[in-house]
Amino acid sequence: MTDAHVLKKRRIGIMGGTFDPIHFGHLVVAEEAYSALRLEEVFFVPTGSPPHKAKTRVSMPEDRYTMTLLATLDNPHFRLSRIEIDRGGSSHTVDTIREMHHWYPPASVEFFFITGMDAVLDILSWKEPFALSRICRIVAAGRPGYSTSALDDLPPEIREAIVPLEIPLLAISSTEIRERVATERSIRYLVPWPVEHFIHKKALYFRHGR
Ligand code: ATP
Ligand code: MG
Repeated sequence: MTDAHVLKKRRIGIMGGTFDPIHFGHLVVAEEAYSALRLEEVFFVPTGSPPHKAKTRVSMPEDRYTMTLLATLDNPHFRLSRIEIDRGGSSHTVDTIREMHHWYPPASVEFFFITGMDAVLDILSWKEPFALSRICRIVAAGRPGYSTSALDDLPPEIREAIVPLEIPLLAISSTEIRERVATERSIRYLVPWPVEHFIHKKALYFRHGR
């Protein structure tokens, strides 16, 4: 075995999100990261309690988990993790990466935390952003309305950890989908059909008093 072979690290993607609900924007980002960065697999990690959404009403973790399962089931290199849901309390990416290092020791893995440009531009408000940028690469996927050049305003130590990712831009958000359901507009072709069926079956996002 050559030295290069021995030192080769596994490349694992982690796609965090509230996924309330998961939509094709999330899935395109994860699939593009998988192929462009030659990842071995991508873990979808639904948040337990998202700290930046404390004032917003968020669906039950088990419902968000189920929708993420339904959306990722047919992709052999997508995996799903309950790590943040089972930890309880606020979910912080730096804690999740540290916990994942129990299964993937740091010397053997390179983690790629996959986000959209809107989320990464907010990174200084995350828990321990400098420590985070030392333990993983941060993939910043394009999102309509957010420019890549704004990355240059981040501190250099953090900027160096960021990998910009070009994707087919999709102007889809979970907020828009929740509003569409509440006002009885179609969400077909914005979310995978099993997710659409689950939303209707559980009457998620419908306004009260219907
Ligand atoms: P909400 O409107 O409730 O904030 P969202 O659509 O932004 O929902 P999140 O669960 O907040 O979805 O996002 C999880 C991650 O996916 C974030 O890093 C976010 O930037 C990224 N993301 C979500 N939608 C897109 C999209 N259409 N294109 C690129 N990245 C996206
Ligand atoms: Mg969001």
